[in-house]
Amino acid sequence: TTTSPAATGPALDVLRRVFGYDAFRGEQAAVIDTVVGGGDALVLMPTGGGKSLCYQIPALVREGTGVVVSPLIALMQDQVDALAALGVRAAFLNSTLSFEARRDVERALVAGELDLLYLAPEALRNRTTLDLLDQARIALFAIDEAHCVSQWGHDFRPDYLELSMLHQRWPTVPRIALTATATAATRTEIATRLDLAGARHFVSSFDRPNITYRIVPKDRPDKQLLELLRTEHGHADGRGDAGIVYCLSRASVEKTAAMLVQNGIEALPYHAGLPAGVRAANQSRFLREDGVVMVATIAFGMGIDKPDVRFVAHLDLPKSVEGYYQETGRAGRDGLPSTAWLAYGLADVVQQRRLIETSEGDPAHRRNLAQHLNAMLALCETVECRRAQLLAYFGQEHPGACGACDTCVAPPEAWDGTVAAQKVLSTVLRLARERGQSFGVGQVIDILLGRDTEKVRRFRHQDLTVFGVGTDLAEPEWRAVVRQLLAQGLLTVEGVHGTLVLTEASGEVLAGRREVRMRHEPERPARTARARK
Ligand code: ADP
Ligand code: ZN
Repeated sequence: TTTSPAATGPALDVLRRVFGYDAFRGEQAAVIDTVVGGGDALVLMPTGGGKSLCYQIPALVREGTGVVVSPLIALMQDQVDALAALGVRAAFLNSTLSFEARRDVERALVAGELDLLYLAPEALRNRTTLDLLDQARIALFAIDEAHCVSQWGHDFRPDYLELSMLHQRWPTVPRIALTATATAATRTEIATRLDLAGARHFVSSFDRPNITYRIVPKDRPDKQLLELLRTEHGHADGRGDAGIVYCLSRASVEKTAAMLVQNGIEALPYHAGLPAGVRAANQSRFLREDGVVMVATIAFGMGIDKPDVRFVAHLDLPKSVEGYYQETGRAGRDGLPSTAWLAYGLADVVQQRRLIETSEGDPAHRRNLAQHLNAMLALCETVECRRAQLLAYFGQEHPGACGACDTCVAPPEAWDGTVAAQKVLSTVLRLARERGQSFGVGQVIDILLGRDTEKVRRFRHQDLTVFGVGTDLAEPEWRAVVRQLLAQGLLTVEGVHGTLVLTEASGEVLAGRREVRMRHEPERPARTARARK
């Protein structure tokens, strides 16, 4: 609020002079007040909400060095460089530093020449680091990604459990814990485990009321994207809105940007494979000019603060709800109505499942990826309010349906897909049991539809008892059924070709012990919906 000291005091001066911003956002002023005044704070703010300033400004206002504990070692160099560019004296200590570089940082710290020092959590297990900090004057401790202390979360870091000792060793130094992912239960856990019982909690709403969420079935993505840009974002007459189109691969970025340009839209590509000069030029055109469409991989967007991005379109499925939220959150920073649009189809699920299946790393890592993907798929397949589901994922409630997402505007019907599911699953089962074979989606659907193809004859699939049992649905509907089975974990894919295989849960459906609810796409003609009842 405007009455808070931070809004007028030295903190505001630092905000303007050092960071070049006019005013604090959301809870920033209140958080900064608390920490500058020596109090502890627990801050829950969405990604992009402006958490960094909550500790950077108090570190600059208070005497001494702000010590920031962060697990994101890979980002430390960039953070320090960005601060240095603003004239802030920042450094980091982690395992990537040479002996000489480390010694320089240590010397600067003890000499009181650092405003901010970034540390990996494991560094604090080290006696020499603790002794070093004892010789320095510490302004505050910031614990970034504080949810890493939760043993039940995806990102548990045992080293975070040790951080409660900060309070015992430096009882008078204020601490600020920050995270973008925390349910109420995780928040309590953070407060307990980090010994932050007396901390003030600052919980920002994750809701972005000016963003309309839409997830549409992917049909002909190029055509669908063009239509979105032309009919809703003014690109029919050459003077359209600025927006971002996210694609999974560099190749599809290039292809999509070229397609938009061919259609008279001012589109630029951005991905890590482009020369640095081209990337910088495209980024600055996007920021400076009006109505540029940036077609990019997720490499684009970190730290981009363009207020009038009117739409964010995804042509491929994000890997997690966190990613989706962060990317769509780049729309509408100015508070004006904006669109988050995602085209999603069967091939996306197959591709993402296959990527996880063939990914390097241990089973726990793959499970973690699968959990993230499952949450994203659940958001895509929901028949409930998207906004409510998105907020629920971050542990926040939305009072009722929002009225501003596709499922609220045109509620999709749910239908009992149990029998359809059983047909698909028993086809996969029979192929495996009777023939020792596994096939991709196309062949399974050809079998269900009883199609006479060369491949059907070659494998004598016309002799299977399930051949032709699925003529009650059309091919697109079968694709939607398979997609939802994959999304619900009732079917999965294997190997580089992504052949369909059963999961443990498939058995329950086949045995008739489990009902399968599916959603009708509202775009599907009402005719098919009626026929099925
Ligand atoms: P988080 O860590 O919560 O994801 P950041 O601290 O990286 O978010 O901030 C996101 C973006 O918002 C950054 O580009 C930052 O410079 C900008 N930002 C933060 N606070 C303000 C503010 N008060 N006014 C304008 N821009 C801000
Ligand atoms: Zn809604």
